[in-house]
Order: sequence, then C-alpha cells, then structure tokens
Amino acid sequence: MISYPWLEEVAQKLDQLLSSKVLTLEGPKGLGKKEIAHEIAKHKLCSSNNACGDCNACKTFVAGTHPDFFILNNPDSESIKVDQVRELIEFMNLSATSQHKVAIIETCNLMTVQAQNALLKIAEDLNEKSSLILVSDQVRSLLPTIYSRSHRLLIKEPSRIDIDSWIKSLGYHDETVFNFPSYFSPLDILEAIKSGETAMYREIYSSFQNLLLKGSGYEKFIKHFKDLSLTFNEKLVFLNDCLKIQLGKNLNFYPRTENTKELSQEEIFNLSNLIDELTQQIFDLSKVKGLNEQVGMNYFLSKVHSIYN
Ligand SMILES: [Zn+2]
Repeated sequence: MISYPWLEEVAQKLDQLLSSKVLTLEGPKGLGKKEIAHEIAKHKLCSSNNACGDCNACKTFVAGTHPDFFILNNPDSESIKVDQVRELIEFMNLSATSQHKVAIIETCNLMTVQAQNALLKIAEDLNEKSSLILVSDQVRSLLPTIYSRSHRLLIKEPSRIDIDSWIKSLGYHDETVFNFPSYFSPLDILEAIKSGETAMYREIYSSFQNLLLKGSGYEKFIKHFKDLSLTFNEKLVFLNDCLKIQLGKNLNFYPRTENTKELSQEEIFNLSNLIDELTQQIFDLSKVKGLNEQVGMNYFLSKVHSIYN
C-alpha cells in the first residue's frame, strides 16, 4: 500500500475500502488520493485480491491495458459532461472479462449536475463485481444523493511540522517545508525539491530573513519577489507565509532556528496586524481582479520594512 505517513489510517482501513461498491475519496490536492484509488482498483482486479504484482491481471493493470478498468479524467479542468459519464456507464454494463470491473473518476468535482445524475443511476445498480471510485479535490462538491450511496473517505492535510519530518525522512535533510508557500501540498514540495526549484524559494526566504534580522537587503528582497514566476495573489500568500513563520517561531509554535530574531511585544503585535491585513487583501483580491501588482506589492513590502526598521 502507499506509504505516505498521512495515509497510515487509510492503509489500516483497506479491508473496509475494498468492500465498498462506491467509494468517494475527498481532500486537498497533492496528498496521493489518485494513488489510493489506483491501489484499490489494483487490489480488486488482482486474481488473489492483494495487488500481488505477479498475476496477469496485475501486469495488465500496470501496463494500462486491463480490459475491466476504466478511468475518467479531465486534466485541463474542464467540466466532466454527461456524455463522458455515459461512456463510463456503457463500460460498466459490458460483462466483465475477469473477476471484477472498476471505474475511477479522478476529478469528479468537475462533473456537471447532469453528469452526476447520470452517474447516480449506475451507482444504484452496481452488482457485486463492479465498483466505482470517485476522487475529488474538493470537499462536499457532489450531490447528497451520491454521498448517500457511497462510502466517503476524507483525506486530511498533515501539519507543516509533520510534512517537514517526512521530507527529512526521505533523506532531504537540508530541505525544510518552511521554505515553500503554504499552498504547496506535501507532494508539490517533493516535486519541487526533485526538480531543483528549492533554490528560488530558499533564496527569497533567506533574503526575507535577512530583511527581518538585519533590516538590510530590502532592494534585493523586492527584486527577488518581483521576479518570482507566481501570480500576484500567490506572491501575497507567500509573503504572508513568511510573516506567519516568523510569528510562529516567536510564539514557539514552530521550532526556532539559530537565526530567529527575538521580537518585542510591540513588534509581535505589529506583525500580527500586518498578517491580518494581508490575509484580508488576499481575500479581497480573490474577488477583485486587476489590482495593480506593482502598487500593491510596494505597499505591503514598505509596511514590512517599516515594522522592522
Ligand atoms: Zn495480482
């Protein structure tokens, strides 16, 4: 089974998951939900029901040619239409060539209401040898009637500290989760480390630390920040993350590092207010498009500057 530490509970429930005809896996992106869905499908299709890896069923499954396995996925985030669900239903209605039939909808939160209604019919009529696995990046995005017919499993995001220990347990001792934006999932972080993106984030974070600790390097920090290949909103979130980590360290919520600056009560208060203001700004930006990035960024960076200098 999948060995991510935040999925331990899922692995323990495997028998229960294998016995559900309709299974809904929900939770944020980047936690391995699709991998769980594939692992469950592999178990169900395996001739000895344990994803042995050696039987013919397992081999064809891994090769992507198992005739009783169907996968529906709209990677470009376009909605899943009723016609696509009808194709899936046609597949489910064919008699199985092996012991079981499994269909996965990987981004089922993209299904239109019409598509969900079509799916409902098949979900009600599944026989003992057929199963449906629905994977959703959003929580409670489906019709209540679908939930009432499925076993629902919610995958929760681990804490930043737990993600940090996981990264280090993989042998990346010099890496830390605190260098990455908070909207990065554990698997996003791993991907970024493997593809060598760490340096960019590390550099920004360290120039931010420099700004906070020594009150210097303001221009350098602004330059780094403006050059980031992120949207304005993502930059604000990242800036807010940097501030929150600083606050977290001062409140002993996150582990202190040797270069944690000792802040006065007043500085902690100002920092916390700035985080509030930024949080509000990020929320407003999600509603109002087209605010000038240059102006917005200069405003917030000058506030950060004034707090620490
Ligand atoms: Zn097998």
